[in-house]
Amino acid sequence: MIKEIFNSIMGEGKYIGRRFIFLRFDKCPLNCIYCDESKKEYKGCEISPGSEKFKKIDNNIKEVIRCIENLTTPDLFAVSFTGGEPLVYYEFCRELNSILKNKGYRTFLESNGIYPEKLFKVDIASIDIKLKEHFINIDDNLYKMIYNNELKTIEKLYKMGVDVYAKIVILKNTDINNIKKIAQDLSEIGEILLCLQPLTPINNLQPPSKELLFKIMEECGKYLGDNVMLTIQMHKYLGVL
Ligand code: SF4
Repeated sequence: MIKEIFNSIMGEGKYIGRRFIFLRFDKCPLNCIYCDESKKEYKGCEISPGSEKFKKIDNNIKEVIRCIENLTTPDLFAVSFTGGEPLVYYEFCRELNSILKNKGYRTFLESNGIYPEKLFKVDIASIDIKLKEHFINIDDNLYKMIYNNELKTIEKLYKMGVDVYAKIVILKNTDINNIKKIAQDLSEIGEILLCLQPLTPINNLQPPSKELLFKIMEECGKYLGDNVMLTIQMHKYLGVL
């Protein structure tokens, strides 16, 4: 269920550069072409913050809390439920979330957004918006269902008062018109920050040009104003987990 628990620096999105404890869950029903999660092994709990050395633990709430407390540093910003897709295990996550909040931790959910019915109240949420080119030969109706669920998830979290933002991975062949439409749909929900993330090259896939990134940011700004941000996967450049 949980592959690894570790303390590191958030490498992407609105809270890039903040210190986090990450709980990385194993499964995800999607199959994005740039995903590198399935190759990661089960490691357990990091022995000390930032050591990148792990010991196996039982995946029960008590052990997980003990691990989180051991990895808590004075600069800690939040505990992130990430994956994989953490909402595959939403009952476990919901219970853990409520214990962590009672202990004074800020909680953060990173999700692909396809499970609006499984949400619970975290402090912050980063919800992916997938593009058709993120998949190999995806059926139109299936893609539409994924997209509608992502919007529903963002809207539901927004109405719950969660600090929610959207994240999109941009590829070389991303169509600017599709991103414009997404920006328009987000603007109809409310004040939602859109984080654009140029693909980190993987599996022979190419990142977008800087011209395309500038253009996409400007076009999104027509709907979202200055609620547009670009972040690279900083942790990969730093060589941290
Ligand atoms: S949603 Fe995330 S974890 Fe799931 S396949 Fe896509 S990149 Fe991988």
